[in-house]
Amino acid sequence: MKKEELKQMKFPKQLKIGGHIYKVKIEKESNVAVSSACGKTEREKGEIYIKSDLMETEQMATLLHEILHVINGELSDSLVEALSQQLFQVLKDNDLQFRARLKQ
Ligand SMILES: [Zn+2]
Repeated sequence: MKKEELKQMKFPKQLKIGGHIYKVKIEKESNVAVSSACGKTEREKGEIYIKSDLMETEQMATLLHEILHVINGELSDSLVEALSQQLFQVLKDNDLQFRARLKQ
C-alpha cells in the first residue's frame, strides 16, 4: 500500500462488534489514561480510545488490538498485541478490503 493510500484510509467513527456499536475516539494520551497502552476500551460506555500522538500505522494496529479485546476479553494482552500487529501487516500489505471486494 502506498503512503497516499494509507493517508486516505479513514478511521471509522464507530464499529459494530459482536452486535454492539462502539464509538472510536482518537484522544490525547492523558485522556486515554492507561500507562504504556496505546488504546483502551470501555465496554460499559461502548467506547474505544486510541492515542492521538501515535503514528497513523500504530493507531490502526491499536484499533485492531482493541477490537480483538472486545471479541475475546480472555486473551492475554501480549497475544492480542502480537495478533493485532501481524494482522495489521497482512491487511495493509495485501491491500485487503473485504467490503469493497464483496460489492463487486
Ligand atoms: Zn491490550
